[in-house]
Amino acid sequence: MINKQNPLKKVIRFITFTDLPIRKKFILFAFGVLFWFVMLTGASFHALIDVNVKTTQLVNTLLPYKNLAHETLQHAHEISHWTVKLKEISSIDQLHLNLTQLNRNIDHIYDNLRYVNSRTSASPINLLWSRMTGLDWLDNEANEKYVKTITANTRELSNILDNISSDKERLLQKNQNSSALNNAIAKFTATRKLLETDCNDFLKVIDRQSANYSATITTTTKYAFWIILIVLIFATGLLAIFTFWISASIVKPVNSMIEKIHTLATGNVDLTDKIEICSDDEIGAMSAEFNELMDTVHGMTVYKHVIEEDSTIEDVYSRMGEAFHTNVGIDTYRIYEVSSDFKTMKSVFPFSISENELDCDADILNSCDLCRAVKTGHEISSLTYDRVCKQFKHDQEKCHVCIPMIIGGQAGGVVQLTFDKTGENADSRAKIEQRVAKAEAYIKQSLSVIEAKRLMETLRDSTLRDPMTGLLNRRFLQDQAAYIISGTIRRKKNVAMLMCDIDYFKQVNDKYGHDAGDAVLIETTKSLSDSVRDTDIVVRFGGEEFLILLVDVEPGDAIAVAEKIRENVAEKIFTVGAEKFHKTISIGISEFPKDTDAFWQSIKYADVALYQAKEGGRNQVVQFEPSMWSEDQF
Ligand code: GH3
Ligand code: MG
Ligand code: MG
Repeated sequence: MINKQNPLKKVIRFITFTDLPIRKKFILFAFGVLFWFVMLTGASFHALIDVNVKTTQLVNTLLPYKNLAHETLQHAHEISHWTVKLKEISSIDQLHLNLTQLNRNIDHIYDNLRYVNSRTSASPINLLWSRMTGLDWLDNEANEKYVKTITANTRELSNILDNISSDKERLLQKNQNSSALNNAIAKFTATRKLLETDCNDFLKVIDRQSANYSATITTTTKYAFWIILIVLIFATGLLAIFTFWISASIVKPVNSMIEKIHTLATGNVDLTDKIEICSDDEIGAMSAEFNELMDTVHGMTVYKHVIEEDSTIEDVYSRMGEAFHTNVGIDTYRIYEVSSDFKTMKSVFPFSISENELDCDADILNSCDLCRAVKTGHEISSLTYDRVCKQFKHDQEKCHVCIPMIIGGQAGGVVQLTFDKTGENADSRAKIEQRVAKAEAYIKQSLSVIEAKRLMETLRDSTLRDPMTGLLNRRFLQDQAAYIISGTIRRKKNVAMLMCDIDYFKQVNDKYGHDAGDAVLIETTKSLSDSVRDTDIVVRFGGEEFLILLVDVEPGDAIAVAEKIRENVAEKIFTVGAEKFHKTISIGISEFPKDTDAFWQSIKYADVALYQAKEGGRNQVVQFEPSMWSEDQF
């Protein structure tokens, strides 16, 4: 269907789905769109999840650490405030109040530590993401180390405070001062400072971690933005190219078809100009069908032109037969022509076949009404109804479609198409119907030409024949003389001229009337025609005068034939009403070119010989002799 292409074009056709059916083209196109949609959605989800995980870690993990460090620092400040007063305390009540404040601050630190230790930083999505990516963004070890140090220092503060409280209470009761207590307070202060330093360091670490997290979230968002943008541009570009290719592969051939149809509609078209077939899909198939249609139309137009210029109707029949064979692909067919009186029919293509070769009973030739297609005037097909026509002899092996050629409202002929029912040549019913339809188109094209040619032949016949007897007339002889002369001379043969005249014919008219005379004339001509060969020519030369040309006659044969004619007429019994009678004829013979090489002179010689026969007493045959001819006499 499509010309050979280079490998690159083949690849392009493959990736642009050129040869795929339209439905598949669109399905693949939809899958393409879906693919890029999924890609975009995937990239967006990836970025969203990543940002979400990092934000969750930030909120769930870093914030409690930060709170712990921050609040511990605040409590350390308060502890520092209450520690300064501890030395100047002079009453037990004051001591209790002071200690309560210090313990409350330490307890708050414990509360925060408990909270940090109990909080969970791992949400299900967070865990899943960490497991999938293998990443753990939190430096938990460093953070936990700070938590442990804060816990240890707080515990140390608590222990020291316990010692200070019991020592101080004891000293207050004794109203003394102790250097050991001062040392304990100094240690308490040092530990608290240590706690403050830890918290400050911890805050710095957490700030650094927060900054890292923010940076990664920004990077992820930035990358996600670029990836989505690139995918979007790439997908849009690809989809634009595919949309263009697919639409071009559909629109281009359709446009070219529209253009061709438009040119057709305006009547100015070159039917041999084809549409280019660009694809193997439905559009390609449509273009191919359109080209085939153009071919058929072109073939039909040319066919009609040719048969119009054919000179004889036989040429048209054989041309129709050839078209069935070459253009339609039907090998077994027969064309019948129905006679102008619609009584008989004959096979006109193939022209000469014996009755045995017919697929139908030979009776149809003598009585065309037996042919179902002629009788009904419509198509008779054994495909529609098996054994539909009784005349068809080969019902077992073949099926037949008989199409009448309707000329002037009646079946002027029949085209019989036959197809094998079984065997390797048997075709499917659809294929047969397709061929029949094409054959019908050829028949339709031929009908007007056949009708015109038949009319012409009838017209020509009517000017060359005598309407009463049906014999050829004198004009025919004038028309054909040249052919008869040249043919006879070329074949080096002779034509015998038999000039026949009914004896005392006037008496018939006088006795029985003119109509009876006509009837006798018609009967006599039948007798004449039956007595000679089909190739001989019988002409009504005058009123009751007939000229018979015996073509390619052998020497001596002319007299024998003339005698046979004379005898046949003489033996014939004519009936007029109740009366029966015989008539005789006289015959004069001459031979062309034996007697003279002038055709019309030879006819004159035959007439001279006829005169001699009449003179000799009638009912006789006389052969011309030169002695009979004298220029003076005639
Ligand atoms: P013979 O030839 O033997 O000398 O006698 P004949 O009576 O046949 O001779 P003639 O030539 O005198 O007569 C011919 C007659 O044939 C004259 C004419 O009325 C008649 N005739 C010619 N043409 C027709 C025709 O078409 N129909 C009829 N009924 N008669 C015709
Ligand atoms: Mg006569
Ligand atoms: Mg006569």
